[in-house]
Amino acid sequence: MQEEQSDIALPNAADLARHVHFSPNQGKIWLDEQRCVMQTMPALSSSRHEIIQSIGTERARRLYMRAGYTNGKIDAELACKSRPNANLTDLFLAGPQLHMLRGMVRVAPLVLELDPAQKHFLVEATWIDSYEVDICLAETGVLAWPVCWNLLGYACGFSSNIMGFDILFKEVSCRGKGDKECRIIGKPVAEWDNAEDHHFFSSSDSLLDELHSIQAQVYQNGSNEADEQIFSTLVGESSIFKEMCNLANKAATSRASVLLTGETGVGKEMIAKGIHLHSERSEHAFIAFNCAAIPPDLLEAELFGVEKGAYTGATHSRPGRFERADKGTIFLDEVVELSARAQASLLRVLQEREFEPVGGTKIRRTDVRIIAATNEDLEAAVKAGDFRADLYYRLNVFPLHVPPLRERHDDIPLLVDYFVEKYEKLYTKTTLGISDKAMSWLLSHPWPGNIRELENAIERGVILTEENRRITADSVLPGMSGRQPDPGDIEIDGLVQTTSDPVPPKESGSWVDTVFEQSLSIDNVESALVNKAMELAGNNVSKAGRLLGLSRPAFAYRLKKLQART
Ligand SMILES: [Zn+2]
Repeated sequence: MQEEQSDIALPNAADLARHVHFSPNQGKIWLDEQRCVMQTMPALSSSRHEIIQSIGTERARRLYMRAGYTNGKIDAELACKSRPNANLTDLFLAGPQLHMLRGMVRVAPLVLELDPAQKHFLVEATWIDSYEVDICLAETGVLAWPVCWNLLGYACGFSSNIMGFDILFKEVSCRGKGDKECRIIGKPVAEWDNAEDHHFFSSSDSLLDELHSIQAQVYQNGSNEADEQIFSTLVGESSIFKEMCNLANKAATSRASVLLTGETGVGKEMIAKGIHLHSERSEHAFIAFNCAAIPPDLLEAELFGVEKGAYTGATHSRPGRFERADKGTIFLDEVVELSARAQASLLRVLQEREFEPVGGTKIRRTDVRIIAATNEDLEAAVKAGDFRADLYYRLNVFPLHVPPLRERHDDIPLLVDYFVEKYEKLYTKTTLGISDKAMSWLLSHPWPGNIRELENAIERGVILTEENRRITADSVLPGMSGRQPDPGDIEIDGLVQTTSDPVPPKESGSWVDTVFEQSLSIDNVESALVNKAMELAGNNVSKAGRLLGLSRPAFAYRLKKLQART
């Protein structure tokens, strides 16, 4: 076949190719941070034919152009990342080169006039061996119109995002309709007489809108309205989460005291608030109070108020949380931190609905529902004599366990969307959402700090991501970047593929080997682990226990045993 010779030389593509990364053991292929899949031509060919049959040629054309546009936009980002110091021509040529790396087409640029300052853009190129021509010829033979829809969308998406203004490409001749070659011309949208194609890049097709709204309707019909109302602030679809919401719903309609248990950061306050909002007390106050955040000697005054002259400096009376929460709900977080006196006063509120402010003699009456929460084993605290048994039973009328995030992994994508939207709004910023690699890291992270940790990670990601860029793995979990690649991974280094035999995982076995090589006893190992956990947790026993997956009493027991030995 005769091919027109292009004088525009393409730079070396090794900087782009090194972003292709195969992880056969993980079942993933990466183009930088975006996950890709390998498709064969027969599969693409038959699905294209079916799509055209089902929705018609015109709608199919738009659909393929939009999909191409998305790929082009993603590759514009990769081009900027790969060639940060390149001149505009080399930066732009990364587009045709990535298109070639994707195996979709060979591009021969003929004209390249780029001048963003003057908003000038004129690009002409030929496409050789377009995959779309091949799949169309295989399925239907020569057609009456140009067929390189996906490629065309890509050219528009890439160019518009590199230049910073809207570029529209048109295919002026196409092998798919019997022409000698595929040739494209790209210009700013305003310079085309007929630029209607451009509009559907920014809006989805009516048929898709229709399907979408039908789907949304089906979803709404199937969901429980009460659940939505109470837990509109909570996000989750996993069965363990729904089960918990169900119980919380029941708690809301009862009048009983509720005891929420669960690790730090699982969202106990949000659930307490949900229960309050769905209860008959919803018109009145919801007061949240963290018992661990106030020094013990001020705690009583905060909860029950102070009478004028109660102590030096108490120049006037001040109401406490219980007075302010009258007829409403009070949420007492970390209830295990209450002093013995505060526990006695709280028990009196629960039994007699009355209390005395600090330094006062006059009894106050209050009607408050109590939702208590703890991330420690309250029963163990009762056994250890740190918490009153009678108070524990009064609080634990309706126990509700809030699962840690690692037990509801299915909810992570939903939570991520929710927090991305929240922080985009807060920082008035638009990102392209989370990259596939970032999502894959988020899904594999154990989340010891639960939803709060996830929320912080997403907030950091949104802050660090530039406008209209994807949130990368490094920005959400900076510590993860030093992770070892999977032993079976294959990378393309330059254009030469270097494959090596899978290396057996060494890391995980090495410390066990050390234990045997140095003839360490189990006691040695345990004391090393306990000491390290205490060090990492800044001597906080509960936190140290969590690091080793132990409850506070279980860890405290080992610590005591260790101290007795030394
Ligand atoms: Zn074509």
